[in-house]
Amino acid sequence: MRMMRFKSTDGFRLGVVVGDALADLSAIQPNAPRDLTGLLQRGPTILEDIAGQIRRATSAQMIAVSNAKPALPIERPEKFICLGLNYADHVNESAYSTQPYPTLFMRAPTSLVAHEEAIERPLASAQLDYEAELAVIIGQTMRHVTADQAIAGVAGYACFNDGSVRDYQRHTVQWTMGKNFDRTGGFGPLFVTADELPRGASGLRISSRVNGEVRQSDNTANMIFKVGETLSYISQGMTLQPGDVVAMGTPSGVAHAHKPPKWLLHGDVVEVEIEGIGILRNQVANEQTQSPVLAVA
Ligand code: MG
Repeated sequence: MRMMRFKSTDGFRLGVVVGDALADLSAIQPNAPRDLTGLLQRGPTILEDIAGQIRRATSAQMIAVSNAKPALPIERPEKFICLGLNYADHVNESAYSTQPYPTLFMRAPTSLVAHEEAIERPLASAQLDYEAELAVIIGQTMRHVTADQAIAGVAGYACFNDGSVRDYQRHTVQWTMGKNFDRTGGFGPLFVTADELPRGASGLRISSRVNGEVRQSDNTANMIFKVGETLSYISQGMTLQPGDVVAMGTPSGVAHAHKPPKWLLHGDVVEVEIEGIGILRNQVANEQTQSPVLAVA
């Protein structure tokens, strides 16, 4: 199943792609969850239940995909964990070496932006970069799981752009600052259930384009740490829960590796494409102001 969360007149809704249309879950069932996390919290059989409901959907419960404004698949993931240095060619183009354990950091919800919304190029830096990544959406609670058990608990996959502000990333040995500028991480639009893809989403072409020019092109089979072993490793210390997200690292070809670097500029269009999942597209727009904000609520 291929699902999209979208903006409606009464807030957000979830839809299932049926040809050129979306079957609107809230139209089919008024109390349907409006966020992927809420949906997945209903348990592993919920996706099958929905597939059954979709088969009975009427045309009045469908809207054209082209009329649906995409939203983040998950508005506020409780955990959004990212891997760095997970493709050998990307490690080689960076200042780092291959690591014996997954290099993990986290992103905050304020750094995420939906498909077709603007990625914000900060006034504080000229070094905005793109990173095409496979995002894993957790479907079941996991702690102390094996790689095989972890794969069974994956709900599905999405496209992610781990937008990075390189100078801030390198101010210290911790990457958090450069990986969390507001509205730099494109996410979505589609959530594709795990049963539609190869085991662990391995063997899929992954690429990025800027203004149509291919910048990254690789295959998810080349990930150093695979999906199952990565989730197993994380679960040694953290409970993974439905709606948590793990982004699996980026291939070579990022802006900073080009000579001279090909930093993102105002007006650039960045696309991340993963075979079998889809295309995530965002235009880059300069931050409008650095005026101080200090407000209640
Ligand atoms: Mg990354």
